[in-house]
Amino acid sequence: MIREAVILAGGMGTRLKGSQGEIPKGFIILESLPIVEWSIRKLISVGIEHIVIGTGYHHEFYDDLSKKYHGVETIQNTEYANTGSMGTLEVAAKKVTQDFLLLESDLIYDLSGLRILVHHPEANVLLLSGETASGDEVYVQPDADGNLLALGKDKERKSTAAGELVGISKISVRLLKAMCGYAAEHHTDIPKMEYESAMQAVAKDNPVSLLKIEHYAWREIDDVSHLNMAKSVILPRIHESESLLSVPREVLLNPGPATTTDSVKYAQVVPDICHREKEFSELLAYTQRELTALVADPAKYETVLFGGSGTAADEAMISSCVGDEDHLLIVDNGAYGARMAKMASVYHLDFDVLKADPCRQVSLDALEDALKKGHYTHLAYVFHETTTGVMNPAKEIGNLCRKYGITTIVDAVSAYAGIPFGLDDFNIDFMSSTSNKNIQGMAGLAFVICKKDKLLELKNKPMRCYYLNIYDQYQYFQKTGQLRFTPPVQTFYALRQAITETKIETIPARYKRYSEVWSLLVAASKRIGLRMPVPEEEQAHLVTTFLNPDWDQFDFDTMHDFFLKHHFTIYPGKVSDLPTFRIANIGDIKVEEMKRFISLFEEYFRDFTKQTH
Ligand code: PLP
Ligand code: MG
Ligand code: MG
Repeated sequence: MIREAVILAGGMGTRLKGSQGEIPKGFIILESLPIVEWSIRKLISVGIEHIVIGTGYHHEFYDDLSKKYHGVETIQNTEYANTGSMGTLEVAAKKVTQDFLLLESDLIYDLSGLRILVHHPEANVLLLSGETASGDEVYVQPDADGNLLALGKDKERKSTAAGELVGISKISVRLLKAMCGYAAEHHTDIPKMEYESAMQAVAKDNPVSLLKIEHYAWREIDDVSHLNMAKSVILPRIHESESLLSVPREVLLNPGPATTTDSVKYAQVVPDICHREKEFSELLAYTQRELTALVADPAKYETVLFGGSGTAADEAMISSCVGDEDHLLIVDNGAYGARMAKMASVYHLDFDVLKADPCRQVSLDALEDALKKGHYTHLAYVFHETTTGVMNPAKEIGNLCRKYGITTIVDAVSAYAGIPFGLDDFNIDFMSSTSNKNIQGMAGLAFVICKKDKLLELKNKPMRCYYLNIYDQYQYFQKTGQLRFTPPVQTFYALRQAITETKIETIPARYKRYSEVWSLLVAASKRIGLRMPVPEEEQAHLVTTFLNPDWDQFDFDTMHDFFLKHHFTIYPGKVSDLPTFRIANIGDIKVEEMKRFISLFEEYFRDFTKQTH
């Protein structure tokens, strides 16, 4: 699978000069976004993580993009005025690390072309379309095997052409080297070489497959007539074809699984692969490193993965981290703390429970009292208690545990990747989470991020659970690069996409978005007159618990069904002796979607009040 792309953006766009002002062609605006930015977004959505833009003319426009999108970097062809596109590719080649997609900067195109190339089995592939009548066609002629023989704009080629060159290709490192070698030999006699000519020149020894999509919607924008054609004919076709593949939108306002992007959903659709293959091992290693890097230094912390839900990650910690001589304290201010206590009893650990109000943060004084009295070696608590939406004071708890030399076991299932924090800073030794909450992937993967020295100490703890043993899973991966048992393979591919999207959004920005939609929700609930049992300042801003209105006729299921009909899923409460319901705002939720929900929310209660009073 292809993870890298190069965009050739060195050219001056002389044929468009004047009509667009002093901008490089990638910055032609269509539907309020530069066309190169549409291209970047499409590349990212098919799993491309590293995009090299070879710049030249007005490179600063592209340099700004590299600040906006994680994974985008630019390199300037300072000789852009005296070279052709191959000159820019030669410069960009310095940044290429693997097989890649090559695109021109002045293209608009249907996403399907990228999806097909990314998974294409051949090493080198040129994308072709049927006739475009653009007036600027590059005809591609095949050899006897159907591979690239020659290409060019002269009309005589048309009758023998396999199709028209689109300007999106899949290129192997080997072909790139051959093209650069050829270009270097001809710097003086062909100073303005185009990349297509270099490819043609070396194609004999590096076969390039031709992939034709007869009715492919695309347009290269080189002059004003192209721009007009793009707007009037091509863009509507691109929209139509892409919209046919969009997944019906359901907004999950339950606290996980969370709403995902279509690109995460589609990332699961990959060729079948055995999890013992090298490609999958690389994906595992990548996933572990990246999950760690979101909250800690991968040199000091290590992620251990399991097939399973968030509870599996909690159970892995509780069953793997506490030895026969250890003494565990568990904070229970909600269902997930109580669940860890249940696990500790199942495994017959030596443990105590600090029970606290489920609608409040745990009191640090009460916790310190307990720690002083109990001679504990380990403390387990829930970072964000999804039961009510309470955020426990994780940093202060970490400080207390540092003071008393206590190992920390933290359920961060619904905090990780949504709330900014660092494991070192918060003194977290073991932390659990799952693929389907704030990281915005699919359900099915559990993971524990461990401080390495503490992880290595687990070797000497009893193996209480076979499947979920953290040390065994870790050491097997160290030896083999594999997981011990069959993981949810496709869920890993979705998680990789979710990680890419998290890195682009960044966790602080995600938390800001979550907090923003939460504020809208809370403001609406106040207008309605609903009450929250958790003080606002003790909430994490990701899940809100509301007391049921004390109306006889109020029924959660009826309300749930009303919202579901409008494609919003809400959730019942979980505090045992308090009639509540919950609305979460994690996942790929947009401000406009929360606004739409809020107007339904207010409508529901307004109509309800009218009917019953
Ligand atoms: N811990 C917390 C804090 C949670 O919010 C959840 C689920 O909502 C879990 C554990 C359990 O996760 P799962 O349902 O994936 O097993
Ligand atoms: Mg061109
Ligand atoms: Mg062009």
